[in-house]
Amino acid sequence: MQFQIFEPYKEKLFCEITNRHQGVSQEPYESLNLALHVGDDPISVIQNRTILAKEYNFIIENLIYMEQTHSDNIQIIQHSAHNKIKNCDAIITNKSNIPLLVMVADCIPIMMYDPIQNVIAAVHAGRNGTFKNIAVKTILKMQQVFNTNPKDVLIGFGASIHVCCYEVGKDLVDITIKNFGKKYIQTQDQKRYLDLQTLNYDQLLQIGVNSKNIEISPVCSCCDKNYFSYRREGTTGRFGGIIKLR
Ligand SMILES: [Zn+2]
Repeated sequence: MQFQIFEPYKEKLFCEITNRHQGVSQEPYESLNLALHVGDDPISVIQNRTILAKEYNFIIENLIYMEQTHSDNIQIIQHSAHNKIKNCDAIITNKSNIPLLVMVADCIPIMMYDPIQNVIAAVHAGRNGTFKNIAVKTILKMQQVFNTNPKDVLIGFGASIHVCCYEVGKDLVDITIKNFGKKYIQTQDQKRYLDLQTLNYDQLLQIGVNSKNIEISPVCSCCDKNYFSYRREGTTGRFGGIIKLR
């Protein structure tokens, strides 16, 4: 899946949200699992990443991915000497031909592009990262290091668990309402659901991101079986968001 919002820049930018098909992993990771940390055979994972590298024409040795820990740790990538970035949930670069990968199964893969300063970012925004404001902190880092203006940043939210499926318990309901407001909790049949996408969207608007510059995939990873979903499946694979400056 590709974002409409990046379409005018396709000469300069590549961005793709993968699904779970056309890989080699066996159940319960079938089949295009991109994560080495979920118990899948590493040979299959490397093969899956190689399939993507061929399909999307990037050099697998240059691929940067994160040991994602639901933190708000952000790193700037200057070269691809170390492919795995430890304890990190957002990566930023202004270098060409370094594909950045974020892996998810319900969390939001947030892909960012500043076409003025020519900077990209890949962000892992699950519930904890969202509560820690990781998307906003990533843009502030881009501003600090690359002089990015938040109003210039184009942002795509990939497939992720939506409010239809993201049931949460009382503790999380209370934390959400106390810190962010009632707006982000929906109630149906006495069950409560958290709207992570709207919360991230509103956080981004608060620092001056233009609402027209945010595209939110309508796909719920828990409803749509073309994607891995931790909520639906428990032990499962990870699909990914990949972004690269050409
Ligand atoms: Zn759903």
